[in-house]
Amino acid sequence: MSINRERMVQEFISLVSIDSQPLKERQVADALLKIMQDMGLEAFEDGIAKQIGGDTGNIIAKVKGTLPKKPVVAFAAHLDRVSPGLGIKPQIRDEIIYSDGTTILAADDLAGVVQMLEAVRVLKEQNIPHGDVELLFTVSEESGMLGAKNLDRSLLKADVCYFLDGLGDVGAIINQAPSQDKLKIKITGRPAHAGLSPEKGISAIQVAAEAINNMNLGRIDGETTCNIGTIKGGLATNIVPELVEIMAEVRSRNEAKLQTQVKHMIDGFEAAAVKWGATADIAVHKSYPALNVAADDPAVLWALQAVRSIGITPRLEATGGGSDGNILAGKGLTSLVLSVGMEKVHSKDEYIKIEQLVKGAELLLAIIQQVATS
Ligand SMILES: [Zn+2]
Repeated sequence: MSINRERMVQEFISLVSIDSQPLKERQVADALLKIMQDMGLEAFEDGIAKQIGGDTGNIIAKVKGTLPKKPVVAFAAHLDRVSPGLGIKPQIRDEIIYSDGTTILAADDLAGVVQMLEAVRVLKEQNIPHGDVELLFTVSEESGMLGAKNLDRSLLKADVCYFLDGLGDVGAIINQAPSQDKLKIKITGRPAHAGLSPEKGISAIQVAAEAINNMNLGRIDGETTCNIGTIKGGLATNIVPELVEIMAEVRSRNEAKLQTQVKHMIDGFEAAAVKWGATADIAVHKSYPALNVAADDPAVLWALQAVRSIGITPRLEATGGGSDGNILAGKGLTSLVLSVGMEKVHSKDEYIKIEQLVKGAELLLAIIQQVATS
């Protein structure tokens, strides 16, 4: 494999120097489209920009395989970045790329973008036999994963997608990330004068207290957690409280367990409300679905083999946070997250070692080769 290190560094520096932010990825997207056109890749932008209130849609490129009937593998990275991410002036010291200290670096997630581009270039230059490969560049990941959420899954033929958005040295494969549901519970009782006629009132606070007291909370099992985060209610000591509002969350790496816990909480609030003659209005909102791929899934095995083949000991990991990978997993696409070598992301201290940037591209090439020999 001959990754062109200088070419990667130049491309990385050029792309991070172009401004981008959630809903405003136009400039970096245009630069990327131009690069892919020059590479002879078929690329297009989907039509979601308007829908999400941004100036850019997701970008998809297809690399036609030279081998028939192989699984289709996709790689994905996001084009937006957190703030302060405008006017980035990258600097290289001791083979490490930093910002000038006044902004982030945006290795999150242009490291992933550059690794994808380099892997495909080398694939073509060296005439390496491969199946179909797809490249996905999402928008507004950092502000609610809007690009991924609005992506039409049918635009991708992929059987598996590797999201190049993980922290730390190349070699981590994240196959488990939790799903999260948020619950907003409104308990309505009946107000009354606390001194003159408390028996005419229904205390929403007592209803909530009883419900919560009977609930399983905290760590439910090895995959599931639950928290009552806020509780607000009541007006004064001389009024039986009419209203209580509670905000809670449930996370689990197992969707069925998550739903069981959510139902347990809904049932608990409703039972207490019925007992006291109050009402409970409960709204459940899915923040993101789970990402959970079995350790013996071919997608994991390809990645494990590929990491070993470039001389690194692979690390199979679970995480407690959500990403674009969760969203696509929720759309039925086998999704894994790979570390790309970026460090201290979302801070002005963000950096990436050039060696890691290069390793990441090597890994993608190795994955494509693993899939080709499957
Ligand atoms: Zn990211």
